[in-house]
Amino acid sequence: MDISKIYKILEKQFKSYPTPVVDLIEAQTKDPFKILVTTMLSARTKDQITSEVAHRLFEIINKPEDINKFSVKELEKMIYPVGFYRNKARYLKELPKVIKMKFNNTIPQEIGDLIKLPGVGRKTANLVRTIAFKKPAICVDVHVHRISNRFGYIKTKTPFETEMALRSKLPLKHWLMYNSYLVAFGQNHCTPRNPKCSTCPIYNECERVEVKTKYSKK
Ligand code: SF4
Repeated sequence: MDISKIYKILEKQFKSYPTPVVDLIEAQTKDPFKILVTTMLSARTKDQITSEVAHRLFEIINKPEDINKFSVKELEKMIYPVGFYRNKARYLKELPKVIKMKFNNTIPQEIGDLIKLPGVGRKTANLVRTIAFKKPAICVDVHVHRISNRFGYIKTKTPFETEMALRSKLPLKHWLMYNSYLVAFGQNHCTPRNPKCSTCPIYNECERVEVKTKYSKK
């Protein structure tokens, strides 16, 4: 499989889709703190909702210390209706303290440090590292996991296995944008149910593993 060919096609497609919310906030702010918060908000939440909430939130909160002015209850109201808003409000409330005590009031760049922040797992850490700091990392979310397996580039069962498989296989030059391209493609074309295979620009390259439509190869 020629992954570079697929990457090139997805790069072209990316320009025709709405920009994923974390890329949008990066383009608008270039601010690692806001990129981190947006990434935290975006988990299990549609991009449109995340975008509305993030823009509203950043009218009031511009730096970690600003969070200290609000209670968890107030933060809950501010970030509603993102998914798991109660948990996320608690994590947000803890964020300034941890950033100050452990990282001297700066957002860390290493995965091992980012995952020490409240509510930050490997997925968020990898995305913040690539999008905020342009450092090589691979963020595996549901789209990256599903599509990388569907087109047959890897064969894995869990997002963690996918991250490890991609780390050893995907050329480094593709790491930075791999998540963004596959998220946009997964939201707009290779959707979880009913992927649009009949109009897919990578139809000829794709193995369509576990695709249960008339376009399935099996
Ligand atoms: S051919 Fe179908 S399964 Fe394969 S990438 Fe395209 S939309 Fe997804």
